[in-house]
Amino acid sequence: MILVTTADKGSKMMATNNNGNCYLCSETLGKTAMKNHLLKKHGASDAGQKCYLLKVEGSYEDYWLYLDVPVTASFSTLDTFLRKIWLECCGHMSSFFNPDNMMYRSEIGKSRKWETLAVGEKIGYQYDYGSTTTMLVTVAGETIRTAQKSVVRLLARNVPPVFQCTVCGKSASLVCTAYPFDSDNQFLCDSCFDENEDEYMLPITNSPRTGICAYDGGLDVFEFKPLHGGS
Ligand SMILES: [Zn+2]
Ligand SMILES: [Zn+2]
Ligand SMILES: [Zn+2]
Repeated sequence: MILVTTADKGSKMMATNNNGNCYLCSETLGKTAMKNHLLKKHGASDAGQKCYLLKVEGSYEDYWLYLDVPVTASFSTLDTFLRKIWLECCGHMSSFFNPDNMMYRSEIGKSRKWETLAVGEKIGYQYDYGSTTTMLVTVAGETIRTAQKSVVRLLARNVPPVFQCTVCGKSASLVCTAYPFDSDNQFLCDSCFDENEDEYMLPITNSPRTGICAYDGGLDVFEFKPLHGGS
């Protein structure tokens, strides 16, 4: 399946291995290995909440998350979580949809519960109908977790990709927003920005919404911090 993307960011991205971090034990693994890791190592508490392991991928697939959510929770809990970690800029509208037909997206109500999906099923999600960020959600497995305070729990997340400053080649911290992928200065480091202050830039974030609308990652409190003694 091909997801709708507004641009190909890959060309200016520095090499990325597409690894992610396990937030439960600090292990670093690729996307598929991470799924197996989560199911095997963290997926079977003796008693607790029956959950689905969800994989969420940005339309540009270097951005990914694994989450768990009780099967009795509704889709709206994921909407709230994704706005926080990846998306919210100006309170845009969002919806879930059937991903089988990307052209004519038939909406799925947010009150629907996760248990109406089977393991292996996918749904689409889009935020902002103007400068749309599109995501794909896969029910990757079934787990049991000990009761959690938050309904949606972050289990794993991609290592932040690194972008190269278009001017000097060092690691960039800012992305051009107006037409990020047509601009001469797509990505800038802080010192090159000081010399190009007329450019309209936003911070580079670990999100598929980097550089879109007014997104600055301000609500993302989910930065990976290795556990003490973790690898
Ligand atoms: Zn782990
Ligand atoms: Zn916005
Ligand atoms: Zn630079």
